[in-house]
Amino acid sequence: MIEAVDVAKVYRRGRTEVRALAGVSLTVPKGEFLSVMGPSGSGKSTLLNLLGALDVAGSGSLRIDGRELSRMKDDELSAFRRERLGFVFQFFNLMPTMTALENVMLPGLLSGRGQVELRRRAETLLETVGLGGRTHHRPDELSGGEMQRVAVARALLMEPAVLLADEPTGNLDSRTGAEVLRMLREATRERGLTVVMVTHDLKAAEVGDRIVRLADGLIVGDERVVHEQAA
Ligand code: ATP
Ligand code: MG
Repeated sequence: MIEAVDVAKVYRRGRTEVRALAGVSLTVPKGEFLSVMGPSGSGKSTLLNLLGALDVAGSGSLRIDGRELSRMKDDELSAFRRERLGFVFQFFNLMPTMTALENVMLPGLLSGRGQVELRRRAETLLETVGLGGRTHHRPDELSGGEMQRVAVARALLMEPAVLLADEPTGNLDSRTGAEVLRMLREATRERGLTVVMVTHDLKAAEVGDRIVRLADGLIVGDERVVHEQAA
């Protein structure tokens, strides 16, 4: 469960001030798949970065599973991030010198879990995203869409409570994109994963339960998605 109350963020670069978020309040229940849409520069990535405690809000309150992010010490925060959150970034952030398999295993190596178990799980995840045949490729030997799928597999390795995904299907063809969305969808239903996904693609957004729209750092729309029941 995510609870954001009146979250604001101003970036300062020299004399330029950009009000990226102007007071956003949002509750995302456990197991919900929330899609975030909005024009370029409307504050979507900023919101995700704040939710993931990768950056600090200027004001307002942000709680994940009842824990106020601003009250956590640095070491608590990094443990929380590692154990509870998964990230898929707009620009992948894969380690260039590591293979696909090593990239997927990486979050687990810091956690003290057994190598054999991690490796098995990483292989299964890569299989699921259709990269069973690319486990030993490095990022420069993968296509953009393949890198994105490695990033999705990596984000799911530690079975996070919350997955924050910035355009996870932006670089994928529609079939692969649909497959990645299906994985995320299943994880919300099967184990109560909470997903916040930024996307420009309405069809991708509609895989979620709810669509929030941002414009100029404010929420300007919030609607539930009506899913057709399969007959
Ligand atoms: P896009 O769809 O293009 O990814 P976005 O909705 O994710 O856009 P943000 O990245 O959240 O937009 O940026 C919101 C605003 O904040 C933009 O006007 C951007 O220029 C500004 N901004 C973002 N990051 C920084 C930063 N680190 N320093 C200064 N300004 C920033
Ligand atoms: Mg962005």
